[in-house]
Amino acid sequence: MDEARISEIVESVIRNINAKENKKQLGVFDTMSDALDAVNKAYKQFRSYSVEQREKMITEIRKLILDEAEEMARLGVEETGMGRVTDKTIKHQLVANKTPGTEDLCPRVYTGDDGMTLIEMAPFGVIGSITPSTNPSETVLCNSIGMIAGGNAVVFNPHPNACRVANYAVDLVNRGILAAGGPENLVVSVKKPTHESSNEMMNSPIVRMLVATGGPGVVRALLSSGKKAIGAGAGNPPVIVDDTADIAKAAADIVNGASFDNNLPCIAEKECFAFDNIADELIAGMIKAGAYLIKGEQIESLKKVCLIEKDGKYVINKKWVGRDASKFLKEIGIDADPKLIICETEEMHPFVQVEMMMPVLAIVRVKNIDEAIDMAVRAEHGNRHSAHIHSKNIDHLTRFARAVETTIFVKNAPSYAGIGAGGEGHTTFTIAGPTGEGLTSARSFTRQRRCVLVDGLHIV
Ligand code: NAD
Repeated sequence: MDEARISEIVESVIRNINAKENKKQLGVFDTMSDALDAVNKAYKQFRSYSVEQREKMITEIRKLILDEAEEMARLGVEETGMGRVTDKTIKHQLVANKTPGTEDLCPRVYTGDDGMTLIEMAPFGVIGSITPSTNPSETVLCNSIGMIAGGNAVVFNPHPNACRVANYAVDLVNRGILAAGGPENLVVSVKKPTHESSNEMMNSPIVRMLVATGGPGVVRALLSSGKKAIGAGAGNPPVIVDDTADIAKAAADIVNGASFDNNLPCIAEKECFAFDNIADELIAGMIKAGAYLIKGEQIESLKKVCLIEKDGKYVINKKWVGRDASKFLKEIGIDADPKLIICETEEMHPFVQVEMMMPVLAIVRVKNIDEAIDMAVRAEHGNRHSAHIHSKNIDHLTRFARAVETTIFVKNAPSYAGIGAGGEGHTTFTIAGPTGEGLTSARSFTRQRRCVLVDGLHIV
């Protein structure tokens, strides 16, 4: 066979593979400019769809998420090496069951002597969304439901280390949309996201609003884009336990919250301030609930695994984010498989001050509530993201909430109650502290429009 024929065959095989992959991954494009063109077309079609049709699409998406939750959980752990399949499955189910749809768009009306004025929640248009590696598919799915409910289209630039599972979610959303008779490519992404594709997305005139879910770098980048932006940034949630709490329950709740998905959630308990007079009981309760206590030299050895010292400051060793507790212990010569590693430290220990996203929880003894609140507020670093407390003293609950000013504040429950898992209220995986939307939902992704009719439709 001559060379020309061979390269013809190779090209055709590559074309077929691409066609197959495109077929498998709806909405996922090779380049950002192709993704932007496609989503722009889709948004124009979507403008003529009714709210009822939006809701039908969302219903299909919810069904597919529930069917494929475990598959995405597995893929997420496999691709990123972070988190736990069982917990990630629960996170997907939470997205399917508790992300608000179109019912969240509550129009308002004023009527009076001068007639009637209507406030409606209108779409922004095409929204550009940047998603994290810690909840990759969950964020794509949750954003998609809320943004579609608001009448928008979305272009994602997922985290490069989690783009396979994020793009699986993009494909799933498109399958749901098509099954309900919606337009093609209402939600798009790129096969290999990069900083360049992210910049192209942010600067495109097609994109009318930006949403960033991630650490401080991405939130800063989006907020300086000159466009309407929602920033959901970093946290370092403290939890306080005082001597009025149900200590056994507090211990179990903290172990469950801090070990959930290996501490990846931005809302998870990341350091604990315990009253001195109950600290021993609390630690014993945590061990009973599945934690492993390390001491002395073991803490210093673990520090060398989790953190890297740079110019006198500690930063996380990214290799270790979201790994199983047993792997950390193995590294310091301990053979055990607990949910969480706990240790006692001083306030300024990096295990307290750095947002590690690892199943390692430092416990600091405090004399009283004043000291607990002061230390917890310092450890939260003004992120105003999440904070938690176990106490039956109303003054303590109120004082801490006032001092820490976080978007989420959970009392007497695991941290995940704050996003609707075992607590009232809807869920989200984009908690917008810096820009103030709080737990985002469909209405966060809309613009208010006012329509005024003078001297009419006022019927009383
Ligand atoms: P990350 O900041 O490394 O990445 C998030 C996304 O931003 C990725 O897609 C990344 O590629 C992109 N990115 C990073 N810097 C950028 C820049 N300068 N310009 C454009 N894009 C940029 O975060 P991660 O490690 O994937 O996630 C963990 C962090 O996200 C933690 O700090 C956690 O608290 C936070 N987080 C917050 C929320 C929330 O709702 N507030 C939710 C999940 C995670």
